[in-house]
Amino acid sequence: MRYRSTRGNNDFKSAAQAVIQGIAKDKGLFVPENIPSLPFALDELKGKNYQEVAFAVLKSFFTDYSEEEIHCCINGAYDKKFEASDIVPVVKAGHAYFLELYHGKTAAFKDMALSILPYLMTAAMNKEKEDKKIVILTATSGDTGKAALEGFADVPNTEIIVFYPNEGVSQVQERQMTTQEGKNTHVFAIHGNFDDAQTGVKSIFNDSEFSDELAKQGCKLSSANSINIGRLVPQVAYYVYAYGKLLDKEEIQPGDKINIVVPTGNFGNILAAYYARQMGIPVGKLICASNENKVLTDFINTRIYDIKRKFYLTNSPSMDILISSNLERLLYHLSGNNGEEISELMDSLDKNKEYKVRDRIKNGLEGFWAGFSNMEETNSTIGKMYSENGYLMDTHTAVAYKVYEDYKESTNDETVTVIASTASAYKFADSVAASIGLPLAEDGFANLRALHQETGVKIPTGLKNLEDKEIRHKGVLDKDDMKAAVRQALK
Ligand SMILES: *Cc1c(COP(=O)(O)O)cnc(C)c1O
Repeated sequence: MRYRSTRGNNDFKSAAQAVIQGIAKDKGLFVPENIPSLPFALDELKGKNYQEVAFAVLKSFFTDYSEEEIHCCINGAYDKKFEASDIVPVVKAGHAYFLELYHGKTAAFKDMALSILPYLMTAAMNKEKEDKKIVILTATSGDTGKAALEGFADVPNTEIIVFYPNEGVSQVQERQMTTQEGKNTHVFAIHGNFDDAQTGVKSIFNDSEFSDELAKQGCKLSSANSINIGRLVPQVAYYVYAYGKLLDKEEIQPGDKINIVVPTGNFGNILAAYYARQMGIPVGKLICASNENKVLTDFINTRIYDIKRKFYLTNSPSMDILISSNLERLLYHLSGNNGEEISELMDSLDKNKEYKVRDRIKNGLEGFWAGFSNMEETNSTIGKMYSENGYLMDTHTAVAYKVYEDYKESTNDETVTVIASTASAYKFADSVAASIGLPLAEDGFANLRALHQETGVKIPTGLKNLEDKEIRHKGVLDKDDMKAAVRQALK
């Protein structure tokens, strides 16, 4: 299996090379030449554990890795670090099944991919005889940063540098990052929003003079954002696994369709669900849920992607994004692998802040349904779910559930549905505590404790003693100073 750029460059790479490089030379994203089929029949999914499913998915995409290498990566990643012994519990509540992706170290779904990416990267560096130090540059809307820091901390021959928006993350998210330990970790807040951080990181990647400068120092940049194919492929596994779990529960029979609802920001998670469908998992609708930053809802409903709009800071900050990078990969696949067309669309987005897709892509989007939830609706959805079912959702998951209810109401579709549950409620303790009717304290950590006292839901270990940990990273920068910060960090 070879990988190429969404923008048509014919420079083919192996998976290992694509993982190391992160982003293609022509600014496109690496995509597999074709999406492999599942290596087994659907009924063989019954009874498979998470590691077995992950192995089958990774081996199908990363054909240049040996079986032994993939086993090593999986065993290193999906172990006792996860506080659920089955890694990803599938829990019924209300009208849907919740795929709880947040039982890793940092209490968000980003751990699913970022606990394995360092292993995939290290294996790739060995295979490619890479002699440079890999510098992981990451823009985060809150959860990627911490998960990447945790994954790469003290991994030999790597440095990890994270940029987060100064006023766009929850108190718990910020504290998780600023207290990060590890000799090779660097964290900076920037004045701006996530799109500013992501644009800054992309422009550093595309600065060939800077790459040369770093090469002289023995360094090479790579990415832990979902633009890296090594992030995306491990995420496909949990959708395949979810189907197996529903078979085990006899909720469905092999071949039955399921719907999947994903609270969406950068479009990585829902793209992984699309890949699972292309591999052969029977999926009816892929339901894309947004918050007030509903550029994707509008795109899927009108075929026009338009970022000339107000940017909202919401209580589901990991979805406060207007430029959803991974959509580019979907457009590429739906266009019939037309790199030239994608290149034009992305140029138009750069220059005109919008693009409109042609019929072929438009028709491909029929497999998606999209909606959004505003903060008030999100909060009342959390409250209602808790009071009726005793089930606690975080704000992002609640956006998905609200959109699912809208979907059901507008279509009367009763297909068994899986909601991607992307974070622990404790990461967004203020909003969740208020939503279930607790009096709100000024301090986020007091709300976290109150939430625990009321619900009895276990606090993830990584969040427990957070407020007592030493703050090690204090830098706040203008977005124009990101390159200088990288230079400084690598001194
Ligand atoms: C990152 C994140 C999302 C959005 O996922 P994308 O892959 O960027 O679409 C949703 N919820 C949470 C909690 C997240 O951390």
